[in-house]
Amino acid sequence: KDKHQIVETEQPDVTFDDVGGLEEVKQQIRMNFILPLQQPELFQAFGKQAGGSLLLYGPPGCGKTFLARAVAGEINANFLHLDLQAILSMYIGESEHNLHDLFERARSEKPCVLFIDELDALGGSRHQMRQHHERMLVNQLLLELDGLHSFNQEVFVIGATNTPWYIDAALRRPGRFNQLIFVMPPAKEERGLIMQMKAAGKPQEKIDYDKLSAYSEHFSGADLTQVIDDATVKALERSMKAGSIQPIQESDVLQSLKNRKPTTLEW
Ligand code: ATP
Repeated sequence: KDKHQIVETEQPDVTFDDVGGLEEVKQQIRMNFILPLQQPELFQAFGKQAGGSLLLYGPPGCGKTFLARAVAGEINANFLHLDLQAILSMYIGESEHNLHDLFERARSEKPCVLFIDELDALGGSRHQMRQHHERMLVNQLLLELDGLHSFNQEVFVIGATNTPWYIDAALRRPGRFNQLIFVMPPAKEERGLIMQMKAAGKPQEKIDYDKLSAYSEHFSGADLTQVIDDATVKALERSMKAGSIQPIQESDVLQSLKNRKPTTLEW
């Protein structure tokens, strides 16, 4: 079935603690996804069921995929990552069939987080054939999402996009991806925290990440991950030269910050 590799399954070992910042986003997800599972009676008393869907949007590299994996980690759920481009590369008919199979699989592997990245790919191409194909797939997706309500409460569908304005309007109606959550670029303290998290456990001198974060304006979480990778390589090179472990220094991180360009600005 997976010859097209439209989906990858994993049991993520990351949790919300691994996601730097985004506290409000985490709280919103907790209230909607996680707590209703853990305290079903309380939530049912208020007419609120677990499960459902939400849409994460924002610039690339700021943690949408990472957050979705962390949701699965928080509730010990399976994580299915759907590649919409791969499914769109199939024949009409075959795509819908595979999408249906995928939702079946999500139900059979519950609790399950089904992550659909680049949801804007269904947003209306200019090519007529492709448009038709997208429309068919949107319809199938709507069927599946509506079906989820009646089935069970332990399949969570998380959509993500950099361009929410391109998403098919039908997908945004109540009961579907009507909950939009903005995953914003990290603020200054969050950037310091993310660098510190990525460097944790590596040999390093005392580094003032908070001070360094002033040099990281407009950097995404992914950019900051790269910066720490760059600094790590510098320390590794020094260590190989010296023949012993040479820790990462503050100047390594500063240099790396200056050598990289932030990527959230173009968004
Ligand atoms: P895209 O829109 O390009 O798919 P995305 O928003 O899904 O981007 P991720 O793939 O989640 O971005 O982020 C890339 C990597 O950057 C993550 O694997 C993670 O290591 C790191 N990262 C991003 N944001 C954070 C964060 N808030 N805390 C810790 N790490 C982060």
